[in-house]
Amino acid sequence: MAEVILDHVWKSYGGNIWAVKDFNLTIKDREFMVFVGPSGCGKSTTLRMIAGLEEISKGSISIAERVVNNVPPKDRDIAMVFQNYALYPHMTVYDNMAFGLKLRNYKRADIESRVREASDILGLADYLHRKPKALSGGQRQRVAVGRAIVRKPKVFLFDEPLSNLDAKMRVQMRAEISKLHVRLEATMIYVTHDQVEAMTMGDRIVVMKDGVVLQVATPLDLYENPANLFVAGFIGTPPMNLFEGLIRRGADGWIFDGASMQVALLPEMQAKLEAYVDKQVVMGIRPEHVGSPIAENTADAPKIKAHVDVVEPMGAETYLYMTSGRHNFIAKIDPHRRCAMGSELQLAFLEAKAHFFDPATTNLIV
Ligand code: ADP
Repeated sequence: MAEVILDHVWKSYGGNIWAVKDFNLTIKDREFMVFVGPSGCGKSTTLRMIAGLEEISKGSISIAERVVNNVPPKDRDIAMVFQNYALYPHMTVYDNMAFGLKLRNYKRADIESRVREASDILGLADYLHRKPKALSGGQRQRVAVGRAIVRKPKVFLFDEPLSNLDAKMRVQMRAEISKLHVRLEATMIYVTHDQVEAMTMGDRIVVMKDGVVLQVATPLDLYENPANLFVAGFIGTPPMNLFEGLIRRGADGWIFDGASMQVALLPEMQAKLEAYVDKQVVMGIRPEHVGSPIAENTADAPKIKAHVDVVEPMGAETYLYMTSGRHNFIAKIDPHRRCAMGSELQLAFLEAKAHFFDPATTNLIV
């Protein structure tokens, strides 16, 4: 069982400035856990504490039921893959993969079979005699992964491993690492600033900001139930639309009143918004839930009238960049709907999909 547990982990690089604040998490055996967040939020620091490359200021980390706070990296049964590959330029691919095993006095035959197995898995069998400079970026990254695989560690740690690759290679390697996770049945912890990478690879995702864990959830749960405004805006492309406005109790029922935009509230939302009547809230709605353009005379659906600023056909869908009064937002619509730039539109609005946030705490209300 290679469970990794972080228990009230803090990290300061000096003084009272905390790079990581009270990090608590249990990463299950064989789980693929992604740490995501903007640059400087403490992802790498946390990963490096798990690896033993940084000291833990407070709290404890255990790997496979053993507290490792004072265990050196080489004895933690982990292997780490770095963004810059960290290959030895003067060694062949074979020797780069074999090096760590030689240092640990593995038998020659064992080294050979492990390197062969890893190179078969990674499609490197034809490149074993080459030096890193004679490889593409993607192949170099595969060698770096191979060097981790040959060790057969309990836990793999990845620190932004795909950041130096071009967009196409990133997508390919993303899928390869996911397949590898299934094949090796290992616990993997993966750091990235890229929310698409996080969403596509993670069994669960930790969203961090300013050294703090904001939410831990599966990709779909993060997308559908963001716990606060930061997660709502960070996960999803294009991002969730956010509108400021007031909750009002009118004669015809409750509404979200965003000046130029009035949205009727479903009865089940009203109870949770009771404390916010006549107060400011932020309403969030995903571009795909802003709705399709509808005819002026459709009576039943809640509607927003808006001006089409920009039309972006993406093939499978079209993005409309819209303005309604003081609000700017994005709608994702069927690509076969014709919408002209500069036109006025009426959109149906899936109010059941709206989220409401408290602007003071930024936390989700309903
Ligand atoms: P991320 O991986 O999310 O980009 P890091 O974990 O690298 O973030 O950094 C978190 C914070 O700690 C940042 O404010 C960064 O400047 C600071 N930091 C990271 N490494 C060091 C270091 N060796 N010395 C001092 N501060 C550091």
